[in-house]
Amino acid sequence: MLLLKYLKRLTISIIGLVSVSMGSISCVSSMKGKGTSPSNLNLVSVRPPDIVLIQEVIPRVRVDLMYLGSQNFLGRPVVGYKKNRGYLTKPAVDALARVQNILERQGYSLLIRDAYRPQKAVHDFVRWSEDSSDNKMKAQYYPDIPKQELFERGYIARKSGHSRGSTVDLTLWDLKNSKEVDMGTILDFLGEQSHTDWIGTTSEQRVHRQLLKQTMEAQGFKNYSQEWWHFTLEGEPYPQTYFDFDVE
Ligand SMILES: [Zn+2]
Repeated sequence: MLLLKYLKRLTISIIGLVSVSMGSISCVSSMKGKGTSPSNLNLVSVRPPDIVLIQEVIPRVRVDLMYLGSQNFLGRPVVGYKKNRGYLTKPAVDALARVQNILERQGYSLLIRDAYRPQKAVHDFVRWSEDSSDNKMKAQYYPDIPKQELFERGYIARKSGHSRGSTVDLTLWDLKNSKEVDMGTILDFLGEQSHTDWIGTTSEQRVHRQLLKQTMEAQGFKNYSQEWWHFTLEGEPYPQTYFDFDVE
């Protein structure tokens, strides 16, 4: 009986651990998966027909992939990004098209900064995080966090929801003055200022964050509360599959 009780408690604590590690979907990472081995991944290296080019379905959407160039937290292009082409699963793109239409009526476009992300790019993040000598983007992207803690605090992990093809990083683009809208931080800033409900925003920045969040959530996306820009389609078609084809 005592053994049974012990086993029950052990099972509960294992379930607890699993749900804690599943709960975090950070942008750079996607799981606070310390010890999450990439060898456990269901990895697919060919693009299936239902992962489509966003620009083809939504011609007016703006796409500027941050990991294709050097304006990102690594300060250089990331492995696997070859062209400025955003890919997502078809239901995610269809939902995004509805968001774009709604926002255009209010004078905004979506600006997509990352969409599908190959697993090799996530590996590149991990390798970068292990090189303590490279801190050239610290002042801009992670001023308050020592680089060696980015991994253990969950900002960098061994797999990302982006590799499943239904997660997108985006912001608002003002069509009246052709400028990126002020959201209070740069996209991919690693710190609490990026939490969607961060209390330090101006009232205008708060309105912008809420407009993006509410419009996305009304069309089936879920925001990650620690990153105002990161959204995953609810009921994503590939919840267990991680893709690794190049962005080209
Ligand atoms: Zn993200």
